Order: sequence, then C-alpha cells, then structure tokens
Amino acid sequence: MKTSNYLLATVRQVPADVEIVSHRLMLRAGMIRQLASGIYNWLPTGLRVLNKVENIVREEMNRSGAQEVLMPSVQPAEIWRESGRWDFFGPELLRFKDRHDRDFCLGPTHEEVITTLINNEVHSYRQIPANFYQMQWKFRDEVRPRFGVMRCREFLMKDAYSFDVDRMGMEKSYHVMYDAYRRIFDRLGLDYVAVEADSGAIGGSVSHEFHVLADSGEDGIGVNSNAGFASNIELVQLPRSSAQRNPPSQPIRTVDTPNVRTIEQLCDSLDVAADITLKTLLVQGEKQPVAMVVRGDHELNLLKVEKIQGVAVPIQFLSPQEVAAEVDAEVGSIGPVNLTSSSDGSEIRIVADYSTEPMSDFVCGANTSEKHYVGVNWERDLGNVEFADLRKAVDGDPCPGTPEENLTVKRGIEVGHVFQLGTKYSEAFGATCIDTDGKNAIMWMGCYGIGVSRIVAAAIEQNHDAAGIIWPDSIAPFSVCVVPINYHQSDTVAKLSDQIHDRLITAGLEVLLDDRDDRAGVKFKDMDLLGIPHRLVVSDRTAANGEIEYKHRIDEQAIYLPIESLEAEMLTRVQSG
Ligand code: ATP
Ligand code: MG
Repeated sequence: MKTSNYLLATVRQVPADVEIVSHRLMLRAGMIRQLASGIYNWLPTGLRVLNKVENIVREEMNRSGAQEVLMPSVQPAEIWRESGRWDFFGPELLRFKDRHDRDFCLGPTHEEVITTLINNEVHSYRQIPANFYQMQWKFRDEVRPRFGVMRCREFLMKDAYSFDVDRMGMEKSYHVMYDAYRRIFDRLGLDYVAVEADSGAIGGSVSHEFHVLADSGEDGIGVNSNAGFASNIELVQLPRSSAQRNPPSQPIRTVDTPNVRTIEQLCDSLDVAADITLKTLLVQGEKQPVAMVVRGDHELNLLKVEKIQGVAVPIQFLSPQEVAAEVDAEVGSIGPVNLTSSSDGSEIRIVADYSTEPMSDFVCGANTSEKHYVGVNWERDLGNVEFADLRKAVDGDPCPGTPEENLTVKRGIEVGHVFQLGTKYSEAFGATCIDTDGKNAIMWMGCYGIGVSRIVAAAIEQNHDAAGIIWPDSIAPFSVCVVPINYHQSDTVAKLSDQIHDRLITAGLEVLLDDRDDRAGVKFKDMDLLGIPHRLVVSDRTAANGEIEYKHRIDEQAIYLPIESLEAEMLTRVQSG
C-alpha cells in the first residue's frame, strides 16, 4: 500500500473533551471518527487493526471447537418478554417499532436469540456439547458513552454460547473457553489478568472477567500474587475489624460548616483527615429510607448494599430534594446522630460499615444544613446501629482467604467475560434435549463475550509513548513502513522503494510505503504516530552501499541491513500473530 492511495487521515488536534490517551491517539492516527455520541466510523487504519483482533479471536474460537454463526442485530420484543429482560434491561436497551407497530430492539447481547434458535435445532444429547459464536455489532444505549470506542454505544463483540446436557458438561465447556481466552489475550500481546467477577444483568453464578491492566481502567482489581488472588474489587468481602475502639476523649459539639457539600470540603474546613469522618447516604428501603454509613475516605459498594435486607433493589439513592423532604437538611450535612424522619419523627435505620466500628471522636453531619458534629462516639451519642460489610476494598485491605496478606488495587479494562449461565435461559425458553435415558432434559448453558473493538483501545493504553502508538506485531495495521528520502527527486530512491515495497509484500508482509512529497521529518512523525512496528528508510546514501536503514518503533538507534537479503531479515524480525 502506498500512502498516495491511502486515507492516512492523521491529525494534530483532537476535541477538548477527549479524556484518555487511546481515544486521542485513535483520532490522531486516523483510525476512527465519531458520527454521533458513542457511535463511530472506522477508517482504513482502524479497521485493519480491528480485523486483526477479530481474526485472532476467530482462529482461537475455531481451534476450541466452537462454530461460527451470525444472528440478527434487530431482535423482536417477544423473546425479551419471554426471558423477562424487556423490563429488567432498562434504558440501555434501544427499542423501536416497525411499520406494523410491533416492538423491536437493537441487540445488546444474544442469549434470547441463541436459545430460541438452538431449541429448534438441537433435539438430542448426540448433537451437544456445542458452542456457537458470532462477531456482531451490539448496541447498548450507555448512560455515559466516553473514552472513544472503549465505552461506546455501538461496538463489536464476539459472543459465544455453549449448550450441554448437565452441569458437569457446562463446567467443561466453560474451562475450554477460559483456556481459549488465555490463548487469545496472549496472542494479542496484552498484559492481562483473569479475575473472579459478578454476573450482573446476564445472570448465572460462576464468572470470570479478563482485564487489561491500565491506569485508565474503569474497574478496580484486587490482587495478591503471593496468595494467587485476583478479583474485581466489587466482589472482595471484608471482615469485621478486630481493632479495639478507644474510649471517648471529647465531648460532642456542633460546628458551623458553611458551603461544605463534600468530604473534601469538610476536611479542609475543619482541618481533619477523611478517615475520622463519616459519610452518610440515604437509599430507598422497602418501607422507609435506610442510611448507609461509610468512612469519609471509603466508597460504598453497591453490590453489598443490595444484599442488605430491607433495601430496595435496584438501589435508588434519595435525590437531594427527597433528602431535604425526609430529614430537613442538605445532603452534605446528613449524619447518623438523631437521624429521624421529619414527617413522623421516627428513627431512620442506620447500617454502618465494619471499618467505622472501631472509630471514636469522629466527625459527621448534624442533620441541620451547614452544620456538623465533632467528637462523636458510638453508644454514647447514638442509638441503634447495625454494622455490616458495605464498602469497596482499598489498597492494604486483607486478602480474602489469606488475611495475613494485603491486597493491592490495580485498574483494569474489562475485555472479556465468561459466565456459567446454568439453566436460566433454557428454562425460560423450555430449551430441552433428549438425554441418554431418553428423557427430556433442560440444557445447561454458558456464555462468553469479548469486546473486540474495546481491545483495540485497550491495546493502545498499554502500548504507546509520547510520539504515538506502538503496536504489537500481531495487531499492527501494517508491520513494515518504508520511508523514502527524496522519493520525488531521486529516481534511485523511488525505484528502490517501490521494489522493496513489492518484494516484502510478495514475502507475505503488510507494507506501507510513504510516497508523499513531504519532508522526511513529517513522514517519521506520522509513522511513529501510527505505531507501525518496523521502519525502513531508503536514501541515496545507504543505497549506494547496498544497504537500508532499519529501526524498530521502540529502538533508539537504527541499524543497516543488506538490501539483497531484506525479505529474510524482515521475516525474522516481524513476529506473526
Ligand atoms: P462493562 O462492565 O464494561 O459495562 P459489561 O459487563 O456490560 O461491561 P458484557 O455484557 O460482559 O459487558 O459484554 C462483553 C464484553 O463487551 C465486555 O467484556 C467488554 O469488553 C465489551 N463491552 C461491553 N460494553 C461495552 C461498551 N459500551 N463499549 C465497548 N465494549 C463494551
Ligand atoms: Mg455494561
């Protein structure tokens, strides 16, 4: 490929709201362009990478014995009503009507479609185990599309669904997929971890997520390599604290805290550390609101709050207006001391995190706007409080199962997710097959997703420098770029560059020849931005010696290779995916 025939589309400037490096580099390198919020065009360079990722995923899925199918992206509402998810999925499901006024949606996932399909095609245990997968564009009307193709509304997913006669079969299929995922992420050249995870809206019990480690990741991963532990921090259970509580040493006092709305402002205004403050949040309960209390420097874990008896699920926080109506104070001034409902004076139930139990002489809201209490102590100043595990784990928390070890919290980007679904969907659709005893048996399912388009962004998060992207060979848009110096001025350079381009392509390499009439510096910058791993520079000077300059994208120094044996030299340098 020559740049004169290619839409390079590199740019210097990106919109001001671009937050993370992969989004910026994908725009700058001419890989993607936004059409609408969270909806993107893929330009030639972007699509070349996307196709590479897709091919690696496809090859490993095929190697694992899975069979490729293709299901429609437009799905009728009936099957979603049958599974109960038409209501449960909420506004992420994009719904519309056809001309006959029938309800449809754009598929955010395909459990409903595959289960109805396979129910009609598979009748006997002899036809399974089987695993069906597809590459399909999904649509999820994300509440906050951001980070480019990392969290967008239309994205390419590989989704797979396994069918077995019993639980043991399902577990076996799950492990086959787990191993295939390891091979996929190894081949993609990514630094990743497989972690225990929550099953969320998909349902089922056992599940693992595959995370690419990167500071921009939206998920927290708790790890301890000594204990061989890795888990999404949402799932990390924390024990009751064994620390002793000191006796009260201060009287309780009310202090003015004008304009204080956040813990940070509170700490600034009173000059105290966040870990001696309490944060109180009101959630809807089955009858009355319930107060959730965590230390000022901790965050509530919603999965844990959901499990507290009497809390309404899905969780709804009271809005600032609802809080004002319920307790007659602003959100930032709520606290557990004398927390009563202003309507009938009844006490509001308080559930506090285990880590607050050993606290004494602490600071919390006074349930009057712009006032806080200091020197607060459990028992002396408060009535009934329940203690429970409510918060997200942080660095230094005990490792579950090995409490003498501490957790380190890393950031991760979820690129894959495997679930043991069990019989949730097969029961909803009556998907059965005849088992070995001739009886009708409900099939056991697993489902397995990979965010193919998200991987492109995740790979950039892990592989870049100040000059641009640094692609692993396995997914580079081109493996070699040829940069001629004076292509339009020197016949020798032009001929040699064309010849090298053709020879390397014949040898099976993907080559981009930058034949633009531009300064070498401009071309070097663009090729570095694009992240092409191997660079050859053709000039009159080196050609006269029968040599060509070679540099890997991450090398400081160039070396010189003999032109004669260039194919062999380059084939040993470029690692095939
Ligand atoms: P997340 O927690 O990131 O929203 P999810 O749990 O909703 O992910 P799954 O339903 O398991 O995701 O989908 C399978 C894979 O699809 C995910 O592992 C992820 O890589 C990818 N994916 C999910 N949502 C998006 C999105 N909005 N944009 C790009 N890729 C996505
Ligand atoms: Mg999601």
